[in-house]
Amino acid sequence: MSPQDWSPNTWKSKPVAQDVQYENQEQLEKVLNKLGTLPPLVTPSEIERLRYQLGLVQRNEAFLLHAGDCAESFDACTHENLSTKIGLILSFSLILIWGARLPIVRIGRIAGQYAKPRSSKTEKIGDKEVLSFRGDNVNGLDVNDRTPDPERLLRAYFHSTTTLNYIRGLLTSGFASLHHPRDWSLNHVRSPVLRREFENIVDSLSDALDFSRTIGAEAGSGASYERGGMRGTLGEVDFYTSHEGLSLPYEEALTRNFPIPFGSRGQNLKPAEKKETAFYNTSAHFLWIGDRTRQLTGAHVEYFRGIRNPIGIKVGPSMEGDELVKLLDIVNPNKESGRVTLITRYGASKIEDHLPTHITAVKQSNHPVIWVCDPMHGNTLTSSTGLKTRHFSTIISELTSCIRIHSSNGSRLGGVSLEFTGELNEEGFSVTECLGGSMELSEEELGLRYQSFCDPRLNFEQSLDVAFLVSNHFKK
Ligand code: PEP
Ligand code: MN
Repeated sequence: MSPQDWSPNTWKSKPVAQDVQYENQEQLEKVLNKLGTLPPLVTPSEIERLRYQLGLVQRNEAFLLHAGDCAESFDACTHENLSTKIGLILSFSLILIWGARLPIVRIGRIAGQYAKPRSSKTEKIGDKEVLSFRGDNVNGLDVNDRTPDPERLLRAYFHSTTTLNYIRGLLTSGFASLHHPRDWSLNHVRSPVLRREFENIVDSLSDALDFSRTIGAEAGSGASYERGGMRGTLGEVDFYTSHEGLSLPYEEALTRNFPIPFGSRGQNLKPAEKKETAFYNTSAHFLWIGDRTRQLTGAHVEYFRGIRNPIGIKVGPSMEGDELVKLLDIVNPNKESGRVTLITRYGASKIEDHLPTHITAVKQSNHPVIWVCDPMHGNTLTSSTGLKTRHFSTIISELTSCIRIHSSNGSRLGGVSLEFTGELNEEGFSVTECLGGSMELSEEELGLRYQSFCDPRLNFEQSLDVAFLVSNHFKK
């Protein structure tokens, strides 16, 4: 099933962009051997289910929400942070379901989103030139802890398992039930308009669920995966994990050759194909290649072409149309539906120059792709007070241009990819990292609760603003 000239370590013969230099190779080998024996975090049947659901997105029968932190940290792995994050993703998707009347496929940037690409290997802090912070699985944010430490890869694995364990518990214990959206907590949303809008949806939903229950339509109403619908009942939702597949030694150690679960490739399998195996990356359901590591002849593309998971590719303004098609030919030679999601991130002022060309090139190639808009990464700026930020209106501008350009080019936006957080400080206030939104966050307020140690994230209120905007756009 996986390409014949490929194995989980063939990436080693190619140039590795964003490579991490470990001083202690012996210790690195020890850690990687240990990781290679630890159990998978996710299973082939979950991965296949996501592939199937992404096929629905590609055919416009579902919408994708990809969201979470720019980078997770080991310290932020707490019960409060995880439940507010999941609550925000659920609230956001409920608003989308209500407007678009489409199932939502939810993929969190969660349970493994630790590694970060950087524009420079070193940075100046005070009068000291130190190695850049590369994410909690590589080194520490503290300036005295910048030497890459292999043990951090193991800590990343265990923090991912803890996170995933907690998410699995939340999802099966009623927290995600559409019967109880009030549990997702809007207590700290101060805008009365936003609260009212969300509560209206919840009230209407409760009425609809009551009605279904009364007429007996609810039992088993979540069509099964095998029957072609989204799995789960109204009470539970599917949720998937993702991270940037940046640290290839880690990804390789968690890549396992497993049988492809029966039934995942349609009902017409020949007997021989039933025994087929494939290499699954078992550290997350979905992995993406970043805009800095997507070189056609590089190590990341080599690794990604061989795994069976659905993958994302970040597409920025430096991508050429024919380069994009070549990339698709490498990672999806059989043009399988649901395999590739293109996450575009040009910047509000550049999208018009690039997206139409990319849409045309992909159309002509007949590659089935999902188009997702990341309106965050092309719109980062530095505030007058020196903080890395993004303006809400620029984010919305890229998003609305993206929707418009797709429809005027005979294409359709299949999802959004956002960096947001429901994180609160000790007094229960949302973070202040992006400017604007219905709360009209000003430059002077940025410093109040700036908690991100990586990219600035939308806070709870600003995220709901985006959700209503997208939802109203797709309203039937
Ligand atoms: C990210 O998604 O956090 C990121 C670094 O994105 P990009 O590769 O698009 O710059
Ligand atoms: Mn980011």
